[in-house]
Amino acid sequence: MPKGRILNLFSDRYQVAVGEKLYNCIARGKWKKEQIFPTVGDIVEITITDENKNEGVMEEIYPRTNTLKRPKISNLTQIIFVVSMNMPKPDLLLLDKQLAFAMWKKIKPVICLNKVDLANSEEVLKISNIYKNAGYIVIQTNAKGKENIEDIKSILKNNITAFAGNSGVGKSTLINDIFEQNITEEGDISSKNKRGKNTTTSVTLYEIEPNSYVADTPGFSTFSIEEIESTHLAEYFKEFKKHIPYCEFVGCSHKSEENCGIKKALLSGEISSKRYENYCQIYEELKKMEEHKW
Ligand code: GDP
Ligand code: ZN
Repeated sequence: MPKGRILNLFSDRYQVAVGEKLYNCIARGKWKKEQIFPTVGDIVEITITDENKNEGVMEEIYPRTNTLKRPKISNLTQIIFVVSMNMPKPDLLLLDKQLAFAMWKKIKPVICLNKVDLANSEEVLKISNIYKNAGYIVIQTNAKGKENIEDIKSILKNNITAFAGNSGVGKSTLINDIFEQNITEEGDISSKNKRGKNTTTSVTLYEIEPNSYVADTPGFSTFSIEEIESTHLAEYFKEFKKHIPYCEFVGCSHKSEENCGIKKALLSGEISSKRYENYCQIYEELKKMEEHKW
């Protein structure tokens, strides 16, 4: 049975790419009853019902490696978190939340420091070093001036990538640089149309080359990190993880406890104070949300 990937959906029609060809597919009738909902990014098996009209029916959904609720998308392999170095100023607390979210979802995070042309180069270097030392990939770009777009392009190879970041940081400009055309304008219009039909967060995957896709992700800036348990947060801070076994107390929050591996690493400079501060703040936020659940 032909196997393909769902690239987008308009009301109940799914566009499935099978090799070079696109098929308009419907879901099997019984899925709705079973509460099975195919999502963009899913790998599916289809039966071709009309080869000339490119129509088919989806028969099976392959197990997902991950799935996000807002926007609804499955099997992302990579998220590029775009941070504006100036106008707007970098929001590192948001970045640290986003990075934790990606680690929790087992999606590879990449950091793109954009608008480097508007920032002091020492400031760029400082932030870049914090995250490089923490073990993350950091790329610096000037999307408007099309500088360093090749680095972004090469990281997209063999990945299904979404761009995320606050409004105004340069996501659309970057995506347009990559495609060398105005993709996102189109995407925005279609998402507006879809919004009218009450499917707020629909996404389209665009093929860059075989096996490489980029998601047009309207409003992809905030994440439901409240599902992360506060006691596990440190595990999703890449450079924190290896120090956790040195904490004396099981379930150490790494805040006020004695003999804490994380705090030792902070003192020795292995963990940056900025990252630690943000960890503490996010920890408190999660803790509050957990208390409100009861
Ligand atoms: P989005 O909301 O994240 O999609 O951001 P946009 O791509 O719409 O960019 C917001 C504004 O920032 C636009 O006016 C862009 O031209 C500008 N911009 C984007 N990237 C850069 C950059 O690297 N340098 C400068 N100077 N301006 C940029
Ligand atoms: Zn600790």
